Amino acid sequence: MRILITGGAGFIGSHLCDRLLQENHQVAVVDNLVTGSLENIQHLFGRDDFEFYKLDVSNFIFIPGKLDAVLHFASPASPNAASPFGYPNLPIQTLKVGSLGTHNALGVANAHQARFLLASTSEVYGDPQEHPQKESYRGFVDPIGPRSVYDEAKRFAEAITMAYHRYHNLDTRIVRIFNTYGPRMRLDDGRVVPNFICQALENKPLTIYGDGEQTRSFCYIDDLVDGIVRLLMSDFHEPVNIGNPNEMTIIELANTINEITANQGGLKIEPDSRDPEDPQRRKPDISRALEILGWSPSVSLSSGLEQTINDFRSRL
Ligand code: UDP
Repeated sequence: MRILITGGAGFIGSHLCDRLLQENHQVAVVDNLVTGSLENIQHLFGRDDFEFYKLDVSNFIFIPGKLDAVLHFASPASPNAASPFGYPNLPIQTLKVGSLGTHNALGVANAHQARFLLASTSEVYGDPQEHPQKESYRGFVDPIGPRSVYDEAKRFAEAITMAYHRYHNLDTRIVRIFNTYGPRMRLDDGRVVPNFICQALENKPLTIYGDGEQTRSFCYIDDLVDGIVRLLMSDFHEPVNIGNPNEMTIIELANTINEITANQGGLKIEPDSRDPEDPQRRKPDISRALEILGWSPSVSLSSGLEQTINDFRSRL
């Protein structure tokens, strides 16, 4: 297949490029490099099965040649206002790429009669009142809260994807991605795993926002990419959660990273750094992925963290 990946220079997008090229597909990337980076795909330049277009998918885009699939992964994704790459600092771009960008990517897929896959998110569940989160849960999102620029853009993106499926008969897929980590995340991304690893490698205390009792469930990038490729090759049109159900508190994550890196810096509790709408608990129910895709994660937290820490060490 010839596959277009928007956001292909980003963290998840670039790993998808590697995996799809490995499976002998041709890959074309569209990225405006706002949060993505050429470093993530520099090893692919010069291959005749790889193309890169520096374009903003929030504007009309034209891609020459046939396309068999369009994967829409372009978007800022870090909620941390302390990072210049966090979506609170890119609010209009985030809303545009989720809405206009999804519309344009769907338009490209429709023009080519290509399959379409949307990168959606566990953030569509907001600060969830149901635990763990199943795909049937409709979420608890504040439409004007600090996270709304991302959450509502992704909710709109799901709605317009289903509209193209129902009205244009487009062959669509929706993946709801839960917290994912791995090599190539920006050092200054602002999310918890890159922050903790950078702090640990500099022998500094790890910054705990709030009391650290809030939970997340972390999935290693290779597991996520495997789930996405299985979904792409399936014929399932409703949203599918892909994530690791291994739930832990942020304190537990911090202690694990301090242990692996032998960091003596300890923890720094910052009660005021936690945004008031930061979800208290998050854990995917992955029974749909298991049933429909035969997918479940296989990389342990310690092994995934070790690979990620090695990558960060080489870049710091
Ligand atoms: N967090 C933290 N210290 C940091 C960065 C994040 O304690 O340096 C917390 C954050 O408040 C949240 C959790 O870690 O409860 C996960 O945050 P992240 O930004 O990774 O993404 P989210 O899961 O909220 O989208």
